[in-house]
Amino acid sequence: MPQSVSRQAELDALKALSARIGSDPLTTQGAGGNTSLKVDGTLWIKASGTWLAHALERDIMVPVAFEPLLDAVAAIDPVAERAHEFTIAAQNASGLRPSIETTVHALLPQRVVLHVHCVDTIALAVRTDCVEQVSPRLEGLNWAYVPYARPGLPLALAIAEHRGQRPDVLVLANHGLVVAAETVDAAEALLLDVKQRLRAEPRRPKTAADIRWLAGSAAKGTGDVSYRLPQSEVTHDAALDPASLEIAALGSLYPDHVIFLGQGSTIAGAGEDASAVARRLGFAPASILFAGKGVLMRADMPPGADAMARCLADVLARIPAGAPVRVLTAGEILQLTDWDAEKYRQELARKAVRKIA
Ligand SMILES: [Zn+2]
Repeated sequence: MPQSVSRQAELDALKALSARIGSDPLTTQGAGGNTSLKVDGTLWIKASGTWLAHALERDIMVPVAFEPLLDAVAAIDPVAERAHEFTIAAQNASGLRPSIETTVHALLPQRVVLHVHCVDTIALAVRTDCVEQVSPRLEGLNWAYVPYARPGLPLALAIAEHRGQRPDVLVLANHGLVVAAETVDAAEALLLDVKQRLRAEPRRPKTAADIRWLAGSAAKGTGDVSYRLPQSEVTHDAALDPASLEIAALGSLYPDHVIFLGQGSTIAGAGEDASAVARRLGFAPASILFAGKGVLMRADMPPGADAMARCLADVLARIPAGAPVRVLTAGEILQLTDWDAEKYRQELARKAVRKIA
């Protein structure tokens, strides 16, 4: 088989796997998560802001010269933050930028790397006793725990510390999961194995969402902004389950929540409807949690925000009440919102809204 044919077959296999991963909201949500393949000195990686779920419908893979990118990481050169400067323009038909997590993929020597925001993993990765919890479950695998670092160069440097161990599995604190293997099939098998090992039985609220009350609150409007029901009914669980609501009140658990929903969770006070909450805050939050009733989304929020609001409910439902949870600090949140690469991703999400409108 000529080399170009086998390369295409591998890329096609990766795209098919990407679409499968992207279609499962318990594994990845919206534009989150990314996949890559290293072949002939080129790293093919998901484009920033695109959805893995769309891997078979549109061209979401971007070619990156990863050796020079690795040199930049080794030199702690800030250009490593701008992976798009390493894109191989002649082969980049879409003109899109590579994922903001390109350095993570480049650093791992394995040919195939899958990075997902698996909700079972996140539910463990936000705990201060994560290593204790995960160790027995991942026994026998070559895995490493990576303390929280902002995606981009800081996360790359944190992962680089484990290079000697050549791990196949990385649990990223307050973030998600990375698995790496030499073939697409092996990477998928490893992902399924790890997900199974980290699986938690979600708590489910005994009460149903109060859709009538929520719809009434949404219909009132809040000046220029209005609210709507979330796309997925699961989203309401965050507000229906008291233990989930208590954890949500602590703050932001992982980066994509901050990027697509803003800082932390807004919880309505007793007797407050959406307009009362917006008046109290002086702005209309992306989503509002109403204890015992459910969740409302600001009407102009893009599909990625709905995916993230559902993710929150799925993650919270898997964290036992009283578990020691670490939320992102104010400094860590500022690092995310003040970062050009994330502003680009937010802009793509807003464009998605305009396309739908
Ligand atoms: Zn990520």
